[in-house]
Amino acid sequence: MPFVRSRPSPVRRLVRLAVRVFGLPLAALALRLLRLTGRRAGVAVIYHTVSERTGEPADELVPPHGVDLFDAQIRHLRRKYDIVPSADLQAAAAARRRGARFPAAITFDDDLREHVQFALPVLERHGATATFFLTGATLDAPYSFWWERLQRAIDAGAPIPSRADGEAQVVARSAIRHVAWEVEWLAPVERTRFSEALLTAAGPDPADAGLRRAGVRRLVEAGMTIGFHTRRHDRMPPLDDESLAASLRDGRDDLADVVGSPLDVIGYPHGGADERVAAASRDAGFAVGYTTQEVAVTPESEPLLLGRLNPSYRSAGHFAVQLVRMLAAAHR
Ligand SMILES: [Zn+2]
Repeated sequence: MPFVRSRPSPVRRLVRLAVRVFGLPLAALALRLLRLTGRRAGVAVIYHTVSERTGEPADELVPPHGVDLFDAQIRHLRRKYDIVPSADLQAAAAARRRGARFPAAITFDDDLREHVQFALPVLERHGATATFFLTGATLDAPYSFWWERLQRAIDAGAPIPSRADGEAQVVARSAIRHVAWEVEWLAPVERTRFSEALLTAAGPDPADAGLRRAGVRRLVEAGMTIGFHTRRHDRMPPLDDESLAASLRDGRDDLADVVGSPLDVIGYPHGGADERVAAASRDAGFAVGYTTQEVAVTPESEPLLLGRLNPSYRSAGHFAVQLVRMLAAAHR
């Protein structure tokens, strides 16, 4: 799930318009200057889902990027950056020389049919590779995670079961992130209970929820990388040692069997990881791990705690500015 954003003021809307119009040429100029330096850095970006429409971050937990916006952002990456597999980004950053393009990696989190339906055709059209971090929870049957059920229930105006012991209550769409934040930090058992209770309010999971084996294979055949996102999608830092080890193990081989090779890249659920999680992931055989901390990847980055950028929901111009700002802020 991506992060919180509130509704913009009129002034901010004007600034956004300016960035939309002038962002691409300004970012191109700044990028040209940055490329004159020997700065060794790269950027990874994290998408969740691509759809016909661009979603509203203020009241959608996983707002999609509209196909046209996604297409414009991938085109920008293709024109201005070297797109590399996520596992190779740090080495590509370290190998960068003065004047050369900066490397960039494209990633997706969560098991969604839209990966194949909307994202893949755009990636293939631009000859761009990407990594999809999957749980494998929907290889054989439809299943919605709790945040998807929560979105369906709130969109339908149905009462939401209490996170504590109170009564079910109707929740405004604008409060959805507040509820989600509470749920993220519940103990895994309580969160499972909440997710099951949500089914009454949300209705049954749609038949096309998730990504079946055929969809995963389609991604692999198209040259995409599959990484692990853990089977249960629990936030990892609060887990005890045993649960942490289990989260790195459960479901990993099932997914690797579908992929046809071991999974050695991990995208942490909710982007959350710390040094203990990184060490456990390394012990479990992962070579590279991605958080959602918005920092560039440099040779000095901890390989199991690499950052990723949340790409703009507004425009390709804003996205271009985001990329340059992240590179400019990178430690050298
Ligand atoms: Zn996720």
